[in-house]
Amino acid sequence: MKCLVCDGSTKAGLFDWHRFCPSCRYESADLAPVINEAGAHTRVDELDREVALKSLRAENFKVIVDLINRLVPVSAKRLLDVGSAHGWFLDEASKRFDVVGVEPDTAVAERARDRGLPVRIGYFPDVLNQSELFDVIVFNDVIEHIPDINRALQASYDQLSPDGLLVLNLPRSSGVFYRIAKVCARFNWHGPFERMWQKDLPSPHVHYFNEKNLDALVTRHRFQPLQSRHLSSLSSGGLLERLRFVGQVHPVALYTQCLILRCAIPFLKLMPSDIVVCTYRKR
Ligand SMILES: [Zn+2]
Repeated sequence: MKCLVCDGSTKAGLFDWHRFCPSCRYESADLAPVINEAGAHTRVDELDREVALKSLRAENFKVIVDLINRLVPVSAKRLLDVGSAHGWFLDEASKRFDVVGVEPDTAVAERARDRGLPVRIGYFPDVLNQSELFDVIVFNDVIEHIPDINRALQASYDQLSPDGLLVLNLPRSSGVFYRIAKVCARFNWHGPFERMWQKDLPSPHVHYFNEKNLDALVTRHRFQPLQSRHLSSLSSGGLLERLRFVGQVHPVALYTQCLILRCAIPFLKLMPSDIVVCTYRKR
């Protein structure tokens, strides 16, 4: 199989669904999404997990909106959030921009709409008019889920105004947790690695990039790389709720884990972050 980024030959990875490119370090997974399919009861767990992540997301979304603000002119007004989910990024971005969200999960999208957010239900770019242009297009934890990423990048180019800004916020393969998960997988502990790829969740990850191979791919779609920034993947807020989703844990063990992690957060923040936000200008 050819590498999506560099056209080199990919190799079998740690599992039969995982592959990697030895030349550019791009990684892929053969995992199929099942959004909106009946019986996806795990969806509920995922929504709960998302809620548990809210305080971390809110912190990071503020940083992203600040970053966007510094990179666009005052005249930039229209912002599109692809995969807007609960609408938390729209909440933050709407303080500065006229926002539109696109969300394929009907139940999630309708909940955001009930809060008055302008969310279109369906897939990007199908729910947009071809003539609709945006000054900023943002993918928060979305691009790594899209199998045909080349189509998504091409569509982003087409729907951006001249000099428009593309913002990709995604997990990176050079982050400390991803590396630890890989080591665990080599020692036959599969859980953390499967979790990083969101295997068996309705919308698993199908790509893992680092900044270098991501830039190489996005540049091919006539974008100029601007800045990238690492974001925190851990926050003390919501930590207890996140740990609860690991499974049935005795309360003493749960609170002990929570305490240890809280103490470790300042140290972990010194390690290579697992989340990056990369920005690109349409050429
Ligand atoms: Zn490659």
